[in-house]
This record gives sequence, C-alpha cells and structure tokens, in this order.
Amino acid sequence: MKYFGAHVSAQGGVENAVKNAKDIGATAFALFTKNQRQWMVPALTPTQIDLFKRAVEAAGYSATTILPHDSYLINLGHPEAEGLEKSRESFFEEMRRCELLGLDRLNFHPGSHLKRISAEESLTRIADSINMALDRTKGVTAVLENTAGQGSNLGYRFEHLAYIIDRVEDKSRVGVCLDTCHTFAAGYDLRTREACDATFGAFDSIVGFGYLRGMHLNDALRPLGSRVDRHAPLGDGEIGWECFRYIAQDSRFDNIPLILETPDESRWAEEIAKLKEFANV
Ligand SMILES: [Zn+2]
Ligand SMILES: [Zn+2]
Repeated sequence: MKYFGAHVSAQGGVENAVKNAKDIGATAFALFTKNQRQWMVPALTPTQIDLFKRAVEAAGYSATTILPHDSYLINLGHPEAEGLEKSRESFFEEMRRCELLGLDRLNFHPGSHLKRISAEESLTRIADSINMALDRTKGVTAVLENTAGQGSNLGYRFEHLAYIIDRVEDKSRVGVCLDTCHTFAAGYDLRTREACDATFGAFDSIVGFGYLRGMHLNDALRPLGSRVDRHAPLGDGEIGWECFRYIAQDSRFDNIPLILETPDESRWAEEIAKLKEFANV
C-alpha cells in the first residue's frame, strides 16, 4: 500500500497536524513535534499526548504513516564539545517526544563538519550520537535523511549513510529517508525511468532498501549535481513527473510515509491526488 502526505503545520498543538493532513486528503504526514527553531521547549503534557493519540486513531493514521522531523538546530556531527553536547541532548528530547506520542521514527539531517574536522570524524560522531540516543529511548528508529550536500552538510553520498549505519549498534532502530530533491542535487539523476533504476539500484547496493523508512517527494529547482537545496512543486522543477510516477508504482516504496515538502502548500491536495492516481490507491 502507498501512503502519501505532506509536512503539515502543528501550530497550536501537535494534534492540529492530524486535521491539517486530513484536510488535504493525505494518508501519511510529517510534522515537527516542537518549535523547530528553539532548542528547548516545555515537555508534552499528558493531555497533549492523549489528544494527539486520539486524533491519529480517529483519522485512521498510525505510527508507520507518520514521519516526525527534528529541529534544524541539531548537529549530531558537531566539531566542538559544547555544540555536540547540546545537539545530543536536544536530539534525545526529540526522540523521547516521539516515544511519548506513540511514534516509531524520527527523521533528521545527519550533521555538518563545519570545515573544522574531517568528514569521517564528523560521520563517526553522528553514529556515536545515534547510539547514545538509542540507548536512552525505546521503540523509536533514528531516520537519517540524505542531503543535497550544501555547505559542509554530510549525508549527500549514499556511502555516508552506509558509513553511519555500519557504526550503529542496534541496526533495527536506524533507517533512512531519501529526499528526491536532495538526491538529485547531490548528483544522482532521477529524470527518467532508466535514471531512477540506476539511482535506486545504487542506493540498494550501498545502503539497502531494508533501511528505507520514509521518502520526501520534492522536485528540484536547481540542476543535477547543483548541491543546492531548493525544492519545487512536483513537475515544476528539473526532475519532472516521471520520477514521482515511478515511485508511486514501485513496490519498494510501499508501506512508508511518502511526504511532500514542496513550497506551494495550496497545491498539496492536487499533488497528493495525482500521486494517488499513479499508485491506483
Ligand atoms: Zn527533506
Ligand atoms: Zn531540502
């Protein structure tokens, strides 16, 4: 089964994300469980947790169709002790929030070396950070997102993801979210069926589809290999519709949240409807 949705607003309370998803015909959704621009926020109250869980159930969603995203401030590969410590603590808090909300995965960008340590050292720190968070939580999978490779961001090569996964102790609680815009910006072509076969084939041999826990479906504003992270509405960018039809019709992308992060929210309902049509769901 295919589940499509978007990264919806949780403003005013996490339970509001459920309604926002339902309103656009989504069968999956992504959300921030806290303000993504703040380090620390008050803990979730039992009432908030209860409201969220009830709303999820009433609307027919489940943990496997929801992909929470962590704060952009977190850098699990930070070169300095203080920044690393703060990021690790905040990441643990985010994992804990997911656990409390009954969610089973947390999507995050691996991290950045900030040009102060080597890529390898930073990747090792990311793996250590994941091990620490997994030790302190239960039932939540850490889902690494591939990046466009902008600035000193790591995770733009499938080998980076494999390097991290290799060093995570509990392989059952580490996964990957592939973002189509990031994949393309990093230099992996997705414009034709043949290109999709090659790119996803490379992903399978280097990382493995067994680790795929979600996808971000975004077209790309900039050309192949630009290393610039600029999303476009589906069909309006450099990738084009063929890639999204391919994903909608390929069973390797079944039973995971397939999430739009496209810039024009007013088009989400239409984009989801088209993806559902491709997938025949
Ligand atoms: Zn993304
Ligand atoms: Zn992006």
